[in-house]
Amino acid sequence: MKNFDYHSPKEVKEASKLASSKSVFLAGGMTTIPSMKLGLATYKDVINLKGIKKLSGIKVSGKVVKIGATTQHAEVAKSKEIKKSIPSLAALAEGIGDPQVRNRGTIGGSIANNDPAADYPSACLALNAVINTNNRSINAENFFKGMYETSLKSGEIIESIEFEIPSKSNYQKLPNPASRYAVIGVYVARYKGDNVNVAVTGAKSCAYLDKNLSDALSKDFSTSSINGVNISSKGLNSDIHASADYRANMIKVFC
Ligand SMILES: Cc1cc2nc3c(=O)[nH]c(=O)nc-3n(C[C@H](O)[C@H](O)[C@H](O)COP(=O)(O)OP(=O)(O)OC[C@H]3O[C@@H](n4cnc5c(N)ncnc54)[C@H](O)[C@@H]3O)c2cc1C
Repeated sequence: MKNFDYHSPKEVKEASKLASSKSVFLAGGMTTIPSMKLGLATYKDVINLKGIKKLSGIKVSGKVVKIGATTQHAEVAKSKEIKKSIPSLAALAEGIGDPQVRNRGTIGGSIANNDPAADYPSACLALNAVINTNNRSINAENFFKGMYETSLKSGEIIESIEFEIPSKSNYQKLPNPASRYAVIGVYVARYKGDNVNVAVTGAKSCAYLDKNLSDALSKDFSTSSINGVNISSKGLNSDIHASADYRANMIKVFC
């Protein structure tokens, strides 16, 4: 690992000021530290966000679950408030990686990293999430841009993520047997007025909302309503874990 300067700011403003094109924010370090150790990434400044109290914690009020960016997956998984308001979100967090990853990895780090197989991006899309940064609020639909790419600007810090509580929801995934990342993951959330969001992860360069499945379930919330929906394998990921055809089939099965 190459030398770097380590910073541990106590305020968001201080962290943002320290940021540059040669810096990285450190949340749980679950992606950043291995990348640095393997020499895949080098930084002049490593800015640890864990000392900023305001970035951590869970709050449920009215129709919204608000989760601070440095909240660890294990905290989401065991939160009684989340289990009650959005049980599928707690279950998703419980299915991430292994105990070590769940006790270090953070929700902010997960969505900032935007791995194509990450679980949380699908939750953000299905649950009409708003991502609050130190500068603005971004709807999930405008946040995830492509493989490891988001609409975050250089030095911008995610402070919290707000999820709209659905009337019904569920997340199912085919976990990679080694990492537990989603080979395919499908998050279905139903809201009053019968609006249904179906978000898919693991299938393309990043998570996305499937309009055809969402429309079919919004019209008729039953298993048979998606029978006629054709999921094309064209453009879907194909690798040693699953072919594009297999992924296309599993999207419908999990939905
Ligand atoms: C073995 C293993 C298995 C895993 N399995 C799964 C899995 O099954 N499902 C899954 O979804 N994920 C999985 N992950 C990913 C993991 O859950 C972490 O969420 C992910 O690695 C990001 O790590 P982190 O939160 O520690 O962020 P870090 O590694 O500290 O940071 C990652 C990136 O996010 C940026 N960042 C962090 N916080 C912020 C913020 N608040 N604002 C702006 N930018 C920020 C950093 O600058 C950096 O670029 C796995 C990881 C490992 C190592």
